[in-house]
Amino acid sequence: MSEAHTRKQRAVVGPLCELPGEGGQDDAGADGIERWRVTVEGVVQGVGFRPFVYRLANSLGLGGWVQNTPGGVVIEIEGERAREFLARLETDAPPIARILRVRRQKLEPSAGGQTDSDGPPACPSPPEGWRARGQGFHILASGTAEATRPSIPPDVAMCRLCGLEALDPKDRRCGYPFTNCTDCGPRFTITKSLPYDRPNTTMSHFIMCAACSKEYHDPLNRRFHAQPNACPICGPRLFADGEPVEAAAGVALAAQWLRQGKIVALKGLAGFHLACDARNPQAVETLRARKRRSLKPFGLMARDIEEVRRVAFVGEFEERLLQSPEAPIVLMKPRDSNRELAARIAPTSRYIGIMLPYTPLHHLLTARSPSVLIMTSGNLAEEPICHTDEEARQRLGAIADHFLTHDRPIHMACDDSVVLPVRGRAIPIRRSRGYVPAPIGVGFRAPAVLAVGAQLNHTFCLLEGEQAVISQHVGDLENAETLDYFDRAVDHLRSLLRFEPSLVAHDLHPDYLSTRLARRKFGGPALRMDGAEREGVQHHHAHIASVLADNQERGPVIGVAFDGTGYGTDGAVWGGEFLVCDMAEFRRAAHLAYIPLPGGEAAIKRPARMAFAYLLEAFEDFETARALLPALEAKEAEVVARQIERKLNSPPTSSMGRLFDAVSVVLGGPANVTYEGEAACWLEAQAASWPSVEAPYAFGFQWEPGEPPGPGFAQGLIVDILPAVRELVSEILRGFPRERAAARFHSTVAEMAATICATLHNEGAPGKVALSGGCFQNALLTELCLDALERQGLQAIWHRHVPPNDGGISLGQAGVAAARRHLKSQI
Ligand code: ZN
Ligand code: ZN
Ligand code: FE
Repeated sequence: MSEAHTRKQRAVVGPLCELPGEGGQDDAGADGIERWRVTVEGVVQGVGFRPFVYRLANSLGLGGWVQNTPGGVVIEIEGERAREFLARLETDAPPIARILRVRRQKLEPSAGGQTDSDGPPACPSPPEGWRARGQGFHILASGTAEATRPSIPPDVAMCRLCGLEALDPKDRRCGYPFTNCTDCGPRFTITKSLPYDRPNTTMSHFIMCAACSKEYHDPLNRRFHAQPNACPICGPRLFADGEPVEAAAGVALAAQWLRQGKIVALKGLAGFHLACDARNPQAVETLRARKRRSLKPFGLMARDIEEVRRVAFVGEFEERLLQSPEAPIVLMKPRDSNRELAARIAPTSRYIGIMLPYTPLHHLLTARSPSVLIMTSGNLAEEPICHTDEEARQRLGAIADHFLTHDRPIHMACDDSVVLPVRGRAIPIRRSRGYVPAPIGVGFRAPAVLAVGAQLNHTFCLLEGEQAVISQHVGDLENAETLDYFDRAVDHLRSLLRFEPSLVAHDLHPDYLSTRLARRKFGGPALRMDGAEREGVQHHHAHIASVLADNQERGPVIGVAFDGTGYGTDGAVWGGEFLVCDMAEFRRAAHLAYIPLPGGEAAIKRPARMAFAYLLEAFEDFETARALLPALEAKEAEVVARQIERKLNSPPTSSMGRLFDAVSVVLGGPANVTYEGEAACWLEAQAASWPSVEAPYAFGFQWEPGEPPGPGFAQGLIVDILPAVRELVSEILRGFPRERAAARFHSTVAEMAATICATLHNEGAPGKVALSGGCFQNALLTELCLDALERQGLQAIWHRHVPPNDGGISLGQAGVAAARRHLKSQI
């Protein structure tokens, strides 16, 4: 299990922001005795921080104390090696701690007596209060009662030491699927309420045996206060098809099922997975059919890093991500030798998504099962992931041939996270298990804002002070199950964070279920919800605000928001937008020219309709458009043409996502899609397979008629992309490869974005450009845009910790609402 994470790898995802410590600039004699008081803020409670401080102080012969307080962990130290302590406090911190701020205050050394005697005291019973050196180092009882700013750590992949134990025949936990320690194991998903202590977790009904209890109470043990601590004697057990089994037998049985090509519902850390042998075409097809998931890519779990290398191109960065404590699914390019596997797993994508085993059960199982497993969320189509055994039996019974479960309840489900490596950043596509609920530093102080998110890829956000907590991935708010899950997730996170919003932020779309649920939950149809004020935030402004907050900036910037669908202030469907904005306000400075969205939703599910709308607009001739689009039957073409002509359910749209859809179909991509973004995924894959960067096609832009440029900067540029569509079509008719056309189209969008930004900048708009929206899940487009902006001399900011898609939008909503209340707009 050498691939399990190590302490040093913490830096991959890193502390979310690092502020320098304060004070400590004065130079004391290097060998003098110093006394310091240090306050550490961030995720530092429930992550083994106090025992770490205790061990560090003792190893350096320092006296003092450490205590959890409302303001964070407070430490006082005194001794000759205090400076070394201060340095190592941050560099050697436990892997799952997230230090957001360290404050240091130098104090007068105590008048007290002699240097500390040998080693730590046998028992860390807290003294009345620490007064002087020579009394050893103590862990004081938590400052209770007061309303602390609680922090619950995310769930953490199994650490190296626990991995070694699980393999050691002499260890009492050898082969035990639920081993964990202070550095690893379940956290957020088993926590029912605060404080984060065992009785408030789903481990409450397991009574620790004497050996476990001894570890739990010993500050020098690596299981000191590890709330889910367990062993084969006292901890959770495995069940195979509902019957209790010995760990080894259960694992062997499940491995055998998988080798036989069966589909196994596997209860994991944060929900159920459906697993099968990824190299068995029949098993994969069966799973697709039963899960009613025709083309959407499946996540994989590979036995170890060597196995990942056999399937995909793994760089150093990818390797670190795979082995990080967050253990996300990492999107990587498949190897040619595994093209067949990739085609089966992710037929329309440029990538395959792979993760490493992250629980002891995964490690034990994959050691004996086929080496690459499909490990997809245990749900049906777009419902939320199952987390109770009862739910799993009902909803997965018809999909899975067998069940491998356990009796440690999952309180709150959490899907696997997905990250896309782009230029040294791990751009989250889905930010969930392993990351949630770690806070994100936003760089400004905010009142308590609850932002209820949008509709698809839904998350919500709790912002207060300088930190935002974004929820786990909730899913697409399109069915009762997901709505119910959203409801419970809000209550869970609010109660864990003791969060009472004074503001509720939501999308402007009148029909979004998120807005409706918020209204129902917080009462009152008017401007107030449960005493909290409501703030509607435009979808694309929220996207740009999310990337601002993600970079701890406030603007003003030119926000380039490219995505599928968002409700515009004029009632149109926006999505190819240039907003001159800051955190509080925006002005729409440019956008793609409107084109009808024939049939509304129907055009999203069936990109062929969108393609037809674009071709009609580009060539202004029914027969020409028809001839270019064999995917569309004559009858349907007539229906679409009539809809457009009579403006029947064909709202105008400036969506960039729809443009990608249309071009994709023209080049032979899917005429129907099973998930939003599928056509764009296909198009990116085509473009990425072309070996060189191609020159852009032509495009036009002009000032909006009748609207003169506004004061200070221009407004109202309309972008005409139809010249590019015509050129692309003529090239295809002349027999140029579609991969090349796809590549040229990507260059065109990037060049257009940079040209529009430069034009706006010349008219007085800011020289900084912020990129967000679902289209920037496209790594090729993101890179081309960054290059094109750089060529124009413009500075770009783009996402770091938050998804560019609607999964990040709740952060932006919260930021905008907070800013409107407290910050003065600068635009
Ligand atoms: Zn561990
Ligand atoms: Zn035990
Ligand atoms: Fe969006």
